[in-house]
Amino acid sequence: MAIERTFSMIKPDATKRNLTGKITAKLEEAGLRVVASKRVWMSKAQAEGFYAVHKDRPFFGELVETMTSGPTVVQVLEGENAILKNREVMGATNPANAAEGTIRKEFAVSIGENSVHGSDAPETAAQEIAYWFSGVELVG
Ligand code: UDP
Repeated sequence: MAIERTFSMIKPDATKRNLTGKITAKLEEAGLRVVASKRVWMSKAQAEGFYAVHKDRPFFGELVETMTSGPTVVQVLEGENAILKNREVMGATNPANAAEGTIRKEFAVSIGENSVHGSDAPETAAQEIAYWFSGVELVG
């Protein structure tokens, strides 16, 4: 299996509760390496652009509001099978359905405040990394 990179976010509900270190530790324990990381407070335009794929969904307004309500930590993670591995460590979108030991089971508040984001495929990983980082910021 080739080494992959994926894009991850620690969302405002988690940064506000000072969970950045605990969540990053779970990612690292799963074998993922943080090769880029920065804290951003998204503008409305940045949040709308990042989540443009969801713009016609009923939860879009609430999603943008939540994502602009505090700081987010945007990260690039590297490792074997990183995209799938990150999704496994995150757990299901709705924390009520998340498996034991996952980040969302342990830390998420609700489906809207579910603590983390992770890319779902190689194409989205590449797009999402490029949305937040330039090549010189990725340090493997
Ligand atoms: N979301 C929401 N309500 C829903 C579905 C999604 O608030 O009914 C939010 C939630 O924060 C989720 C994000 O929109 O993480 C993106 O949804 P997606 O289905 O892509 O889930 P994910 O890939 O984050 O598990």
